[in-house]
Amino acid sequence: MLIYKSEEEIELLRESNFLVSKTLAEVARLIKPGVTTLKLDKVAEEFIRDHRGEPGFKGYNGFPNTLCTSVNDEVVHGIPSSYRLKQGDIVSIDCGVILNGYYGDSAFTFPVGTVQEKIGKLLACTRESLVKGVEKAVEGKRLGDIGFAIQQHAESGGFSVVREMVGHGLGKNLHEPPEVPNYGKRGKGIKLTRGLVICIEPMINLGLRNISQDKDGWTIRTIDKLPSAHFEYAVAIQKGKPDILSTFDYIDEILNK
Ligand code: MG
Ligand code: MG
Repeated sequence: MLIYKSEEEIELLRESNFLVSKTLAEVARLIKPGVTTLKLDKVAEEFIRDHRGEPGFKGYNGFPNTLCTSVNDEVVHGIPSSYRLKQGDIVSIDCGVILNGYYGDSAFTFPVGTVQEKIGKLLACTRESLVKGVEKAVEGKRLGDIGFAIQQHAESGGFSVVREMVGHGLGKNLHEPPEVPNYGKRGKGIKLTRGLVICIEPMINLGLRNISQDKDGWTIRTIDKLPSAHFEYAVAIQKGKPDILSTFDYIDEILNK
């Protein structure tokens, strides 16, 4: 069953998602060769708690950490570790918080130093795909319009779309209906209605779209071991134009310094 949010609830969700956006920017400051993903996790957890939030992923279905840190061929749900990021890596940082009973959830994939040109293109194309999808997240459109726009952009860039992992509704729960696939057909799926809040999160692969799960029960990676990128925004469905509850502005400020 879909859960529609009041204007007050959307403002609370905006605050939760703002904290996630600020946390991702704190992490962005530290991303360079030599830093461990566990260090990034610690900084994120401290920042969230300093701002009266709680990590949203820690303990969720038993997930051990605050961030999902997914390096190179890891698509999503990577567990922070003593692995030191190195020049040429990419790392998806996915962050969730709970603030005032409502979840925030957003992700960004960072280059570590300079990356190969084709990997840079993968990052740019995945971020653009997210924007293309978000443009369709307005009242009156359908879920399939979002997936279609993402798939169209990613595939025309020569990349492939992960099918098994999808976006989701967001509210008092981290994952609510509906599922939000990153592929689809125009005009198909449920009609988007005001009050729906969804996370749109394309996971786009350089090579084959196929994935597998590690024995740790979490880490999802590409079967051909080629890199994968992931960007995520939370969006409230409104009339006229998408109301994006997340922002990458603070991350861009850090990256463009
Ligand atoms: Mg999500
Ligand atoms: Mg997420």
